[in-house]
Amino acid sequence: MAPVRAGFGLTSATLRGLPELEYFESPQQREAALREIEAEASNPKSFDFWFGVMLTAGAPILTFFLSRIFLRRVISLLGVTGLDRVVEILLVVGVAWVTVRSLHRRGLISSVREKLIARGIAVCRGCGYLLRGLEPGSGRCPECGRRFEEDVERILREGNRGRESGGATG
Ligand SMILES: [Zn+2]
Repeated sequence: MAPVRAGFGLTSATLRGLPELEYFESPQQREAALREIEAEASNPKSFDFWFGVMLTAGAPILTFFLSRIFLRRVISLLGVTGLDRVVEILLVVGVAWVTVRSLHRRGLISSVREKLIARGIAVCRGCGYLLRGLEPGSGRCPECGRRFEEDVERILREGNRGRESGGATG
């Protein structure tokens, strides 16, 4: 068994409890996919890498200033006076942290969906709904109504063909 690389744990921790992780055909397949996501995120040639850099460096700064403006307004609306500057900074940092975390998680979730689709497991890119066994042709996710991309449609068509040839015909 391959040793687990540093950083792999962070991806797993961020994605903990995600239903899509159960859609892989085996735990080995899931681990390979997570490892690919990690490798892509640490490759300077990839978009994910620069997105990660931007997120790590830019987002907290931007969020810091935006949430500061926002919190100022909330504080003045609530009429709280003499709020400690330390408390204000803690609130701003908290908002920035939650925002960056949720952006990171969103990015990872969409990567997991791409990995599933790349392995021929049809899921909705919009909501992650498992489309296995769905009749092709409806063109839309029954869960969120998102229109399927061509590659998802193809998996659905091929999946149904496979089922027909595998099962009894009549
Ligand atoms: Zn959907």
